[in-house]
Amino acid sequence: MLGAGMVGTSAALALQARGYDVALIDRSAPGSETSHGNAGVIQGEAHEPYALPRDLATLWGIALKRDNAVDWDMRGLLRAAPSLLPYWYNSAPRRHRHISQVYSALVRRATSDHASLIAASGAGGLIRRHGYRLLFRDAAPFDLMARKAESWKARYNVGFSIEDGDVLAAAEPALRRRLAGAIRWHDAWTCSDPGGLVRAYAALFRKRGGEEVRAEIEGLDTGPGWRVRTSVGVFEAEQIVVALGPWSPHLLEPLGYHFRMIRKRGYHMHFTPGGALPNLPMIDAELSAVYAPMRAGLRICTGADLSVDRGEAMPRQLRRAHAAASELLDLGEPVEASAWRGLRPCMSDMLPVVGAAQQHHGLWFDFGHGHQGFTLGPTTGTLLAGLIAGDPDPAVRPLGPSRPAQGL
Ligand SMILES: Cc1cc2nc3c(=O)[nH]c(=O)nc-3n(C[C@H](O)[C@H](O)[C@H](O)COP(=O)(O)OP(=O)(O)OC[C@H]3O[C@@H](n4cnc5c(N)ncnc54)[C@H](O)[C@@H]3O)c2cc1C
Repeated sequence: MLGAGMVGTSAALALQARGYDVALIDRSAPGSETSHGNAGVIQGEAHEPYALPRDLATLWGIALKRDNAVDWDMRGLLRAAPSLLPYWYNSAPRRHRHISQVYSALVRRATSDHASLIAASGAGGLIRRHGYRLLFRDAAPFDLMARKAESWKARYNVGFSIEDGDVLAAAEPALRRRLAGAIRWHDAWTCSDPGGLVRAYAALFRKRGGEEVRAEIEGLDTGPGWRVRTSVGVFEAEQIVVALGPWSPHLLEPLGYHFRMIRKRGYHMHFTPGGALPNLPMIDAELSAVYAPMRAGLRICTGADLSVDRGEAMPRQLRRAHAAASELLDLGEPVEASAWRGLRPCMSDMLPVVGAAQQHHGLWFDFGHGHQGFTLGPTTGTLLAGLIAGDPDPAVRPLGPSRPAQGL
């Protein structure tokens, strides 16, 4: 297994459960990269993947950099253009609805696929099973979202409740000002230490006899079987799974696979609580920012940055989210001197790549989980293990790289 993020570690456990002898190779400790820095929401409510906005008002807001959901610069946009164009095409309502049917089948089982691993790894203390809140300052977007939630309930049976300003204020005394209200999503679980959860899963993998290798993966050679060239030597395996998150396409290029991946950068920073922490994580709808109580403090996470990284200690989206959060919550001092940054590995058809490589025997893919890899790791790992073991009828059809929208 190449990659010990949430995706690779979960898949390693699923293969182990099928009786395979698995080695988990990563240059860092498990859960140190994207799977560490996310908002920690196991998004059982997210039945539709993030589409690119297509309405003029939102696009105008992004173009003028008023919308904090997306940041961009021309160099970054040009670099991402070959992947953004098919992403735009796939975001058309009819195609997005079709993609969402597949996505929903994955998301529907996400919390239960995590549940068995959480129990077996003894990580229950990191998990809250009470959902999260989507906050609104103004009545108009709140009403609009409430109507959208109703339509998701009809389509996906998603669980939610609508909290007006009074209910919200009573439920979250940490809020310093009255808001229009919140949508409380009930089907999501949240984690107070996302990297810690991956480490707990990795400890379970070791306890069950799995081997963990700390090494930089440098390349793959094949025929017969596979050889993985690493900084500490060459490892041989009959089959390998590439689960390197945002780095997966790079390793596969020399083998002739050219995946269209958009790497949407996101940031986080922790703040020591000046006052009470919120009871549940909150998404500030207007700022597209998450305020998540974590072991390390209040974690503020941002939306998607498509610009070239300028290495700022506190990038623009985070500065704006911090200013907005400071109005709502009593934030203390920053815990870190500069923001954590990580890349969401998003495919242009919004679906993770899970399945057999078309051109090589014994090569398998499990990457491209975009905004929801922390959620979906155990689910795609279970499906992939079924495919590798030759299940005749997996519960959900595999999402192989051969799907037309993927564009290999
Ligand atoms: C700000 C932000 C907030 C997010 N919030 C959420 C959320 O609330 N819920 C959710 O479900 N998802 C969320 N996500 C998305 C989620 O974090 C990712 O989809 C997920 O972590 C991807 O997991 P992964 O295992 O594929 O990748 P990673 O966790 O990045 O793992 C890949 C691993 O590959 C290793 N690696 C790469 N190259 C090499 C090499 N050459 N040699 C050795 N090792 C290598 C890395 O060290 C790393 O450990 C968020 C992402 C961001 C950026």
